[in-house]
Amino acid sequence: MSIIVQKFGGTSVANSEKIRNAAKRAVAKYKQGHKVVVVASARGKQTDELVADAYELNPDPPKREMDQLLSTGEQQTVSLMAIAIQNMGYKALSFTGHQIQMITDSVHSKARIESIGSEIIHEKLDDGYIVIAAGFQGIDEKGNVTTLGRGGSDTSAVAIAAALKAKQCEIYTDVDGIYTTDPRKYSKAVKINQVSYDEMLELASLGAGVMHGRAIEFGKKYGVEIQVRSSTLDIEGTLITEEVPQMEGILVSGATVQSDLAKITIIGIPHSPGNAAKVFSALAGTKISVNDIIQTELDDNSANLSFTISKNDLADALKTIKAIKNEIQYRDLFIREDIAEVSAVGIGMRTHYGVADRMFKALAENKINIDSITTSEIRISCLVDKQQSDKALEVICDTFQLDKEPEERDM
Ligand code: ADP
Ligand code: ASP
Ligand code: MG
Repeated sequence: MSIIVQKFGGTSVANSEKIRNAAKRAVAKYKQGHKVVVVASARGKQTDELVADAYELNPDPPKREMDQLLSTGEQQTVSLMAIAIQNMGYKALSFTGHQIQMITDSVHSKARIESIGSEIIHEKLDDGYIVIAAGFQGIDEKGNVTTLGRGGSDTSAVAIAAALKAKQCEIYTDVDGIYTTDPRKYSKAVKINQVSYDEMLELASLGAGVMHGRAIEFGKKYGVEIQVRSSTLDIEGTLITEEVPQMEGILVSGATVQSDLAKITIIGIPHSPGNAAKVFSALAGTKISVNDIIQTELDDNSANLSFTISKNDLADALKTIKAIKNEIQYRDLFIREDIAEVSAVGIGMRTHYGVADRMFKALAENKINIDSITTSEIRISCLVDKQQSDKALEVICDTFQLDKEPEERDM
């Protein structure tokens, strides 16, 4: 008997009718002879509402208490789901992160999973139960409730699928798959049938909010087949899987825009070995993850060091960097919050040239100024003014014909 993990996002469990529909999907799989684990998110916008409640009481709410509070959203959904399934005549049990021993580190609001009590889940599946686990939450070794970061239920689901060696992890959501870009931002986007872990990892970390980036890391590491699909339509979704040869033929698979970024430039860092290491180890010590890093020579004695971070981390990052000013003797700091990053991603870039050239030319023709550029083997990203970011995304999508099926695009 194979195990299937089904994850339902917030909009897919927003009210009783939707919970019942999700429950029906779980039961349908169970009736086909699978063991079924459901991972559920908080209903609708509940997590946002809880965040707002906390900020009404305290402009700087303690992170431990935020995790304790936010985890209650998922806890409600799982019991409601179990109640719905039992009413359909099937055995179901709901579990919190604590109850399935979803052990994480202690970094509140962005904890990382360390282990899962898979034997607890196996035991209940063997007894014929549909197991419903709360997404997004875990527990640290001291027993504090932790959360995995916004959108983290995807990661809970894929990690559980990996731990149980599930046949597939289905991500049910409000779109019917992964599109060439966010269809809310570019209505001509087309659905992708299959995408490689590496491409999806880039897309997710560059702002494609349809999947939590860490979920893809688990998927790739443990070879979990992931399918992103609609919770309302009965059609095949997008498979996130190992690379297959025809993927190389597609030049650009998708595009993203990320606007919740800030860029810090440390101006005039003296050229002496170890200064960059001091900056980034101080940031790592504050658990801030840094995206793109660019260092440019100013003169023989000094350099400018720029990097982007999530806007949520800006206050902590500034505090950290100011604290080491005496140690590294930089001249000044320059902050930009009015920027966004647009990116084109595709494993085809490894074997084709001219992608950067086409992208920069198209942006220039549309009078979009590029602040800075970063690349990897399979992506090109540009920082642009925030007001121009929607236009920049559209230009990139049009240039690489992301409104067409891959076989209809001219290379
Ligand atoms: P859930 O609550 O089910 O986790 P999310 O809101 O986190 O749902 O993710 C689904 C949303 O992701 C879609 O409504 C869509 O607007 C957005 N999205 C961003 N990029 C993409 C993309 N490339 N393909 C599909 N959806 C995308
Ligand atoms: N409920 C959490 C959030 O809104 C986790 C999730 O939905 O994946 O971010
Ligand atoms: Mg999500």
